[in-house]
Amino acid sequence: MARGGHDRVLALQDSASGLRAFLALHHTWRGPAWGGIRVWNYRDEEAAMLDALQLSRAMTYKCVLAGVPGGGGKTVVLADRLEDRPAAMARLGQMIEDLGGIYRCGPDVGFVEADRLALVPHTQWFSHDQGALRSAGEATAEGVVWAIRGALVHAFGDDDLANRTVAIQGLGSTGFALAEMLMAQGARVAGADSDPDRVEVARAAGVEIVDPAIIYETPADVFSPCAMGGLLHDLTIQKLQAKIIAGSANNVLARTDQAQLLRERGILFLPDFVINSGALIESAGLTETGRTDFSEELKRIGATASKVIARSLKEGITTVESAYAMAREILQKEDQARQDRGERAIPAFGQDEV
Ligand code: NAD
Repeated sequence: MARGGHDRVLALQDSASGLRAFLALHHTWRGPAWGGIRVWNYRDEEAAMLDALQLSRAMTYKCVLAGVPGGGGKTVVLADRLEDRPAAMARLGQMIEDLGGIYRCGPDVGFVEADRLALVPHTQWFSHDQGALRSAGEATAEGVVWAIRGALVHAFGDDDLANRTVAIQGLGSTGFALAEMLMAQGARVAGADSDPDRVEVARAAGVEIVDPAIIYETPADVFSPCAMGGLLHDLTIQKLQAKIIAGSANNVLARTDQAQLLRERGILFLPDFVINSGALIESAGLTETGRTDFSEELKRIGATASKVIARSLKEGITTVESAYAMAREILQKEDQARQDRGERAIPAFGQDEV
């Protein structure tokens, strides 16, 4: 926590339902902490807590670069400990409600519709309003499309998706929506998923199905990781064939310094926290403004991605360093403005790996 600059982490448990979860609030100085609920099998509690720490920290950078007035949070629920899942989600909802709005949540990997139905009666802070908004996956996918188009300009000179090939890992709520949007704009899409049902839906929609074990080494202009984090490491990076990496998956690099390896291989890596903020923008925006159309804000994700790339090229740094530098400059400006108004300074948070 000290290295990552986290504000607080709550360990949640309810023995009646088997709820075991960690709720991390990374930054609470710019407004509420935003972050989804992940339900996943972890090796042990330490691994779950580490995931909550890393994901909540990335959410802070995501908020800053997306222009959302808030910080990062995240809940991870240990899936294999759940005994009465609806009761556990109801209890989690009560616990989130008890936080009084300091934490605003939405769906993340493994959080299914039945979980949402069990949780929402107990908290007003589940902020992805599915009545008013489209699915979180669709919103996130649209932001990723804009980012890919921004990167295409840098790599190939134009943002035309026709005749470009995109290989997508994970055809779930974000990955499948992305595939559909890209195909509608003329791209050829290859995709892989470990779930045979997802594969069948994608195949029927026109995705060329690839073995999940080799999707990242499939020849393509863009590789789009839309499953779990940690996929890109020393070994997988050597096998990548795409010129651009841009997807929805959080924390896709096993270590952030591996961005250097990508840079040395001439691969344009778009950091996830710069480009997967579509659902965050829509949820936070609806809460703040009551609007439901955020097309302009989502388009800006492409412009931000382009700025991140341009700065990395100009300064000879990785895109991750470039994105961090941009976020820190925004935070410093905000901090100065706070101090000018006589408010307390925002505490510094570390740049080290968590
Ligand atoms: P999802 O659960 O709907 O989809 C993930 C898919 O990946 C599933 O279909 C799963 O079977 C597949 N998968 C898992 N491991 C795989 C592997 N090794 N190879 C191939 N397929 C694999 O989840 P999602 O909501 O689409 O989220 C995907 C990623 O995007 C996550 O990292 C999530 O944190 C991130 N993200 C999601 C949103 C959102 O709006 N849903 C927003 C920001 C970031």
